[in-house]
Amino acid sequence: MIPVYDFPLFRPPSEANSIIVQATFGCSHNKCTFCGMYKMKRFRVRSLKDIGNDLKILRNFHSSRKLFIADGNALCIETERLIEIIRTARSIFPEIERVSIYATPMDILEKSTDELESLREEGLELIYTGLESGDDEILQQTKKGCSSREMIEACKKATDTGIDLSITAITGLGGKEKSRQHAKNTARVLNKIKPKYTAFLSLIPVEGTPLYYRIKKGLFTPLSQTDHLKELRLTVEDLNFKTIFRANHASNYLPLRGDLPDDREEILKLIDYAISHPEVLKPDYLRAL
Ligand code: SF4
Repeated sequence: MIPVYDFPLFRPPSEANSIIVQATFGCSHNKCTFCGMYKMKRFRVRSLKDIGNDLKILRNFHSSRKLFIADGNALCIETERLIEIIRTARSIFPEIERVSIYATPMDILEKSTDELESLREEGLELIYTGLESGDDEILQQTKKGCSSREMIEACKKATDTGIDLSITAITGLGGKEKSRQHAKNTARVLNKIKPKYTAFLSLIPVEGTPLYYRIKKGLFTPLSQTDHLKELRLTVEDLNFKTIFRANHASNYLPLRGDLPDDREEILKLIDYAISHPEVLKPDYLRAL
């Protein structure tokens, strides 16, 4: 018998082998104009009983030192409940050493420092959050729900309590019109946050989202394959902190990974090569979110 996940179930690539439990279904924000991840789900917080039952079923065939709490922004639920979920998971999987979760920056801001510290003490070591862009015009246009200043404030609040961050930005989110400002401001904000992990996805317009219809109406010009790389290059050039860099998601045209700043020159060389040899890039039909 397998656990009844409410699909689609999203998780970061690095949580592929983790014990994944859905504390919520969907995303409580669910307004970002580019995101179709949870459009089909009504947001709800699950009962502890259901979560415990899933974990017991998982125990029959899974073991991992890592627990990942889904869905979209599970950090939005009450801290006491999150702590109970972690404790329940540990009672069933005593081998758990590290807990991670998806959150929006606003979810982090809504927690007090004491709450974040309590979660850290319970094992919450990593928060995955989407910066998407460091440009305020783009953040507003995409209805991300917070400004770049709030992003920085939220991320600082988390790292001050010892919780690591994995931050995602999306190349192409400003379209052709705002490509340069998106690249530069994303680097500016990342340089302030200094996350342990920095990941880049490449925009894939999803049918049914407001952004998709903006493209259809000619109000947003998507980047070409090589423009995505030129934009990424502008950001990578500017990043000035130590981070584990990843742009090897299924949406990326060119898989890239390395440690910044040590591998910067190598990464820029690979980008330059691909810009002048676009035949090495992943075709659109092979890209996915
Ligand atoms: S991008 Fe994140 S916060 Fe925005 S709607 Fe999608 S899951 Fe929710």
